[in-house]
Order: sequence, then structure tokens, then C-alpha cells
Amino acid sequence: MTKKNPMRMCVGCHEMREKRDLIRVLKMQDNTFCIDPAGRKNGRGAYLCKNPDCLELAVKNHGLERSFKMSIPKEIVAELAEEMKTIAE
Ligand SMILES: [Zn+2]
Repeated sequence: MTKKNPMRMCVGCHEMREKRDLIRVLKMQDNTFCIDPAGRKNGRGAYLCKNPDCLELAVKNHGLERSFKMSIPKEIVAELAEEMKTIAE
């Protein structure tokens, strides 16, 4: 394993993956959320595989909520689902 490819844990399946294989969800200082595909913005991030199954798992096991210590707006979950669909195509 090289340090060039930082590993992060998916909050859905809890597998470690390279950052570039994950989607970053970001909580900003005003407690709003956004999706940060490039992983460059500042804030508290959680990571998900680019896989709708992992999103579903994260919703079921409250992985995102646990990571951010607050509930995730449904719109963000929907946005993530859209994003994954786009990537999968
Ligand atoms: Zn995953």
C-alpha cells in the first residue's frame, strides 16, 4: 500500500477504499450538507463507495448520521443516489 492513495472507510459497507473510489459527503459549518465529488472542500466529510447499495446500507445502519452526529436531509440522500446513478452509467 502506498501513501499516494489515501484510504477511507465507506460508511455503508465499512470497507476501506482509495479516496478516489469514494464519494465524499460534506457537512459545512452552517450544518448544511453537500456532495463533494472532488474531495477538496473544507468540512467534516464522510465517504461512500460509488455504489447505490452502499448508500442504502448507510441509510439503514445510520452510518452517515453517526459520522456527522446529526440526521441527513432526504434531499441529500436523493442527490447522492442521483450522483451514483450518473457515475454508474
Ligand atoms: Zn461501500
